[in-house]
Amino acid sequence: MRGEGIRARKSLGQNFLTDRNVLSRIAGLVSAGPGDCILEIGPGKGALTAFLVSGGARLVAVELDTRLVPLLRETYRDNPRVEIVQGDILELDLPGLLTRYEEGPWQVAANLPYNISTPVLFLLLENRRFFSRLVLMLQKEVGDRLAAVPGSKDYGVLSVLFQLHFDVVRELIVRPGSFHPVPKVDSAVLSFVPLETPRVEVGDEAFFSRVVKGAFAMRRKTLWNCLRGAGLGVTEEGIAAALAHCGIAAGRRGETLGLEEFACLANALLARRGE
Ligand code: SAM
Repeated sequence: MRGEGIRARKSLGQNFLTDRNVLSRIAGLVSAGPGDCILEIGPGKGALTAFLVSGGARLVAVELDTRLVPLLRETYRDNPRVEIVQGDILELDLPGLLTRYEEGPWQVAANLPYNISTPVLFLLLENRRFFSRLVLMLQKEVGDRLAAVPGSKDYGVLSVLFQLHFDVVRELIVRPGSFHPVPKVDSAVLSFVPLETPRVEVGDEAFFSRVVKGAFAMRRKTLWNCLRGAGLGVTEEGIAAALAHCGIAAGRRGETLGLEEFACLANALLARRGE
């Protein structure tokens, strides 16, 4: 593999995948034939990239490490369907990058740098209209949160917001020995297929997110205490009325609410904002 002499940087979350069986299974979750478009985040030394482009797909890869970008560009010099962009996925204009090619829909494939996986997840959520599928390697613990059901210890903001918009499937667990350098934790590959319409009707999405984040802000506190402190612009009477309207006891905790209940609550709180 190219770049053998380049030392992995912890600050860039560099744990390179070396297990060809895992690489091939991840690539197999993406449709990667002629006419398919793939965005790869953090191609690194190109291990997954090679699997993704072998079937003739169009691929745009965004890599931050300036040591690796020239190697990748050299590898794909003669392949007009591959574009290597040097930059920070969190800083660049993602809609601008994707629309520049007048193609799509895009699939995202990534062995994400774990130190920025949560902001990247929110970036992908925000731009979901561009995507037909996401296939992401994440820290197993983050994967557990994304796929968690109400009432479980892993259920939280990520579970609610992703399950509202995607079918989320945990595809495989990947052990530390599949990477170099070897990470301390297990990883998981998840696939996400965007729903045509949100799983439940939420009205104002930004307000819905604020309610969900507020409900999980203090995990040991009741919903009542969390919502009072969430700065939603609703009086205590309004919060009590909204909870009663949805048949939700004020003493419950946020992690017990399903999507329908969150939607009802957010809509009822929104109706009482500024009263
Ligand atoms: N895809 C390669 C593989 O599977 O072997 C590398 C995966 S490694 C876990 C994460 C990659 O993301 C690294 O190459 C790292 O340099 C890159 N990276 C880190 N932060 C980034 C950022 N903000 N934007 C784009 N790439 C980033």
